[in-house]
Amino acid sequence: MPEITKGVYFIPGQDEMIPDAHVYVIGMPSSQDLSVVDAGLMGKGGYKIQAIQKLGIKLSDIKRIIMTHTHLDHIGCLKEIRAQIPHAELWIHEDEADPIEDGDERGVYGMEMFRSMCQSQYRLKSGDFKFKVDRKLKEGEKLDMGGLSWEVLHIPGHSAGSIALYERSQKVLIPGDVVYADYAIGRFDLHGADGSVLAKSLLRLAELEVEILLPGHNRVVKGVKPGYIRDTAKQWAPYLR
Ligand SMILES: [Zn+2]
Ligand SMILES: [Zn+2]
Repeated sequence: MPEITKGVYFIPGQDEMIPDAHVYVIGMPSSQDLSVVDAGLMGKGGYKIQAIQKLGIKLSDIKRIIMTHTHLDHIGCLKEIRAQIPHAELWIHEDEADPIEDGDERGVYGMEMFRSMCQSQYRLKSGDFKFKVDRKLKEGEKLDMGGLSWEVLHIPGHSAGSIALYERSQKVLIPGDVVYADYAIGRFDLHGADGSVLAKSLLRLAELEVEILLPGHNRVVKGVKPGYIRDTAKQWAPYLR
C-alpha cells in the first residue's frame, strides 16, 4: 500500500543488522511541491529513489527533505538521496540542526561504542554527516506544503530534536521514533535522550486525534484506536522517570 491516504506515500525501510528507517513522501502529486520525510540507513538511498520514481513522482517535484531526527538509521543515506535530488532543501529541528551543521555526530551515532562499530563496518569517517541545514524547524510551526497543512511538534526524549508532523484534516501523525505500533516507543538511552522528557512528549502526542500512525520503523497503522498513544504512555510511565 504505497499510498496510505491522500497525499501520503509509504516506502518501507529494508532492515539489516541495523534498522533502516521508513521514508514517507508527503504532498499532492499535482502540487509539484512534495517532501520526503527521513532518508534511511547507509546504502539504502538507491532503492528509495527508485521506489519514489515507481510511484510516478518526478524527482524534480521533491522540494525538500525533512528529518524527524538525525539518528544514523534515518540520516545514513541522506547523502545518497541528495545526490539524486540536489535541489531539495534540508529541514531539521533547530536542536539537531546546529550539531549537524557543526559536524557534531554524537547525536547521529547515539553512543561511542556504536560509532566505532559503524565507522569500521560501513567505512564511515568523521564529518560524513555534516550538512548545511536550509531551514531550522521550530515547535508549533505550520508547514503548508503540497496542498496539505502539517504542524511541527517538538517531541524530545528519544533524541534532542525529534519532531512529529501532524496533519489534522486526515489525522495523520508521523512521529519518527517516538512512538510505534504495538505499544512500542523509541529507546531513551542514547546521546540527547531522556526518559522523563520522552514521557512528556508521549503525553503531548496523546492529546492529538490520530487515525493514521506512520512511525519510523515497523508497522504503519490505519484506524488507530482512540486513546492508543495515551495507553502506550501509561504502560511505559513506570520506566520513564
Ligand atoms: Zn531514532
Ligand atoms: Zn530509527
